[in-house]
Amino acid sequence: MNYINKRFFVEKTSVNKIAKKFGTPVYVYSLKKIEQNINNFKKSFKSINPLICFSVKSNCNINILRIIKNQGLGADVVSMGELMIALKAGINPKKIVFSGVGKTIEELDFAINKRILLINAESENEIIEIEKIAKRKKTLVNIGLRLNPDTNAQTLSKISTGKKEDKFGVSQKIFKRIIKNFKNSKYLKIKCLSVHIGSQITSNRPYEKMLRVIKNTIRNNNYNFEYVDLGGGMGIKYNLNQKKLDLNSYSSQIKSFLKKTNLKVIFEPGRFIIGDAGILLSKIIYIKQTKQKNFIILDAAMNDLIRPALYDAKHRISPSEKKNSFINKLHEFVGPICETSDKFLLTKKYQKIEQGDILIIHDVGAYGMVLSSNYNLRPKPAEVLIRGSKNIIIKKRQRINDIV
Ligand SMILES: *Cc1c(COP(=O)(O)O)cnc(C)c1O
Repeated sequence: MNYINKRFFVEKTSVNKIAKKFGTPVYVYSLKKIEQNINNFKKSFKSINPLICFSVKSNCNINILRIIKNQGLGADVVSMGELMIALKAGINPKKIVFSGVGKTIEELDFAINKRILLINAESENEIIEIEKIAKRKKTLVNIGLRLNPDTNAQTLSKISTGKKEDKFGVSQKIFKRIIKNFKNSKYLKIKCLSVHIGSQITSNRPYEKMLRVIKNTIRNNNYNFEYVDLGGGMGIKYNLNQKKLDLNSYSSQIKSFLKKTNLKVIFEPGRFIIGDAGILLSKIIYIKQTKQKNFIILDAAMNDLIRPALYDAKHRISPSEKKNSFINKLHEFVGPICETSDKFLLTKKYQKIEQGDILIIHDVGAYGMVLSSNYNLRPKPAEVLIRGSKNIIIKKRQRINDIV
């Protein structure tokens, strides 16, 4: 995805052409970029040979999941809906793990019937419930136990999950009690220690600490796990000054952690695989000039992309056609929704733009479309996949008549 002669292209198709053909707002993904991200991920961890379970909650489009499945990945799911769509995309149940603090009996029952690799349990009461179901079905269920390592992921507080005040996993003390009470269960086999400390992590330090806590916990319990599920959270570059997580260093950290063990590693990346492979195209409806700033009013809003409003996330916004003249005035890019928080970005200056121009909101492949809603009774946007000069619609725009 880049400018060619000042026009922005996704693979061999210009975004202006995509906007014209499919309308706006529209999510656009590059197949090549998804495949590149997966290959980079695999290459970085080659010596560990992990099972990579794509986090379906970051993007649950079935056509995206099919691409991911074709690359040999499994899935990390957090609801019955996600489990169903992962199976429908053809992902092998033996490559699926199921996480989440509040799995219902119905969801557990379904997952057990599908014989997935692991149910990652997050509380003692959940384990009790799983054992009851397994007993009723006279079967043996494979379990991961999620540890809360009490590690600060040094990320946005709303996407941190590994501190003791967060609802996820169990403390080391309870972890030990569960192992003791259930290690001889006829119906449960605790095969995996799992963690996930948060999202958009760009430093290796939190992972270093996390690995230390896991090591201690394993030593403390004197118990043989087959797997260690290290979760996801690998961060990407949302702006040009930020850096991605250094996967090679993370890989070395894990390699030294694994020494003298036979543990198999599971990862659950979402954002790292799909985040920068997707953009959102939007048209400028109006430009409203005030003394302090120019409001650039877009046809995309917080119902299409909620990360800026929800997490204060910043996504770069660029023009579909580059120009050389700039306007030295504050520009605020906003949506049409009746909420002050319906805004995307504030910049000090911007190139000359006009009503009707197409803009690109970057790095929205993860936690973009999945978090969209019908707020203000606006239809959800379309999704398009680009493959060279081919463009395929992978989710139709919701029709306004269907939601009215
Ligand atoms: C959200 C989530 C992930 C994926 O996180 P990313 O930051 O997108 O890699 C992985 N595992 C669990 C349990 C999650 O909740």
